[in-house]
Amino acid sequence: MQRRDVAVVGTGTVGSASALFLARQGHRVTLYERVAEPETVGAGIMLQPSGMAVLRQLGLEQQVVPHGERIESLWIQTAGGQKVMDLQYAQLSPDLFGVGLHRGVLFGALYRAALAEHGVTVCTGLDVEDLHTHRDGRLSIVEREHRKRHGLHDLVVVANGARSSLRDDTSFVKSVERYPWGALWAIVPDLEHRYTRRLFQVVNGTQRLMGLMPTGVGPDGGPRQVSFFFSLRGDAVDAFRGGDFAQWKAGVLADVPEAAPVLDQLQGPSDLLFSHYHDVVMWPWNTERVVYLGDAAHAMSPQLGQGCNLALLDAWYLAEAMRGAESVPDALFTYSRNRRWHLDWYQFITRWLTPFFQSDHTWLRPLRDVGMAQVTRVPWVRKQMVAAMAGVSRGPFLELLRLP
Ligand SMILES: Cc1cc2nc3c(=O)[nH]c(=O)nc-3n(C[C@H](O)[C@H](O)[C@H](O)COP(=O)(O)OP(=O)(O)OC[C@H]3O[C@@H](n4cnc5c(N)ncnc54)[C@H](O)[C@@H]3O)c2cc1C
Repeated sequence: MQRRDVAVVGTGTVGSASALFLARQGHRVTLYERVAEPETVGAGIMLQPSGMAVLRQLGLEQQVVPHGERIESLWIQTAGGQKVMDLQYAQLSPDLFGVGLHRGVLFGALYRAALAEHGVTVCTGLDVEDLHTHRDGRLSIVEREHRKRHGLHDLVVVANGARSSLRDDTSFVKSVERYPWGALWAIVPDLEHRYTRRLFQVVNGTQRLMGLMPTGVGPDGGPRQVSFFFSLRGDAVDAFRGGDFAQWKAGVLADVPEAAPVLDQLQGPSDLLFSHYHDVVMWPWNTERVVYLGDAAHAMSPQLGQGCNLALLDAWYLAEAMRGAESVPDALFTYSRNRRWHLDWYQFITRWLTPFFQSDHTWLRPLRDVGMAQVTRVPWVRKQMVAAMAGVSRGPFLELLRLP
């Protein structure tokens, strides 16, 4: 395809990754970001083999993976210590593993690469409110303040996260809901490097889920860290903040004695941040000249740990569609078609699994604690679940996703 003028809105995972891929194909890319000085903030995220494969394509794997902590399995148990699930990457392939990572490490590597990339212009401190379509079909970015217009773009990549307001103009099918549940989280030094090799979760009913994820070093180095998360309904956050913190800690300790070194470092409710989850469904993910990627297109509950991995795959799929297409609309329709099966499947299983771990459907508890524990003993089922965890499943009867 001939050289195009591309706008990318948002410098999160998918924004920076797609800016890099497209600039390397020779397109002229402007990256618009609301935050004036983007920072390497966030807690622990899981990098899966799928996401690592895309980083390898970008030449960034070695700038990211060594900063994280290798994760070999997902272990889930009840508060009473009964095993619910033990999924090991090696059950799919001996060389597979995940990486527990500080979000800032991934963000920093992608953002620095975008800043250094010839062909990418980064405009920060610019809050994009809207898109304006010109008579010839090209688009300008409309800034919130003063409604000032910027650029004349052949393609706009909307990559501004789950709360994007740029979906409003499109007429195609979409639903954007805030999930009633979210999580309190904190990231603290793992001074004795106790938390290694597994993502450890404890469930107590369907309303209490707690986890410890080895997270590697922070964006500026320093000691190894561990992320702690505690699921909570959004409408219970105020009660938590005003409640008895010592009592809350004692309750967590009773369910998860392994969390003691983390709890010792938490002094009060303000040491934990709360994140809401969103559930975004759209189809297709494009118009003639606009494409929606990452959380803006398909945010989901983080139960399967796929957010940044699906986003990285989106960027790669878009680049592949652009490479082979005659025109921008052709490329975008190819993108939506090629991406559909994998994304639909992950949205389906996420929606299906989440209530077992975070919901008011308490009757699901025995099904999970007994049923799931039994069913994951079947090697075929276990393999399917590991493939889903690794980011490469396309459904139980289809071959695994071929990675870049
Ligand atoms: C600050 C932050 C912290 C996060 N922390 C975690 C975490 O700890 N654990 C986890 O699993 N996931 C976290 N996430 C989400 C995770 O990064 C994403 O699910 C995943 O990487 C997919 O990313 P994305 O690129 O689609 O969106 P995001 O990573 O959300 O990036 C969206 C980008 O768009 C920018 N933006 C938003 N609105 C506008 C606008 N109007 N104009 C211009 N720019 C705009 C945002 O500032 C941001 O840089 C965090 C996201 C953010 C933004």
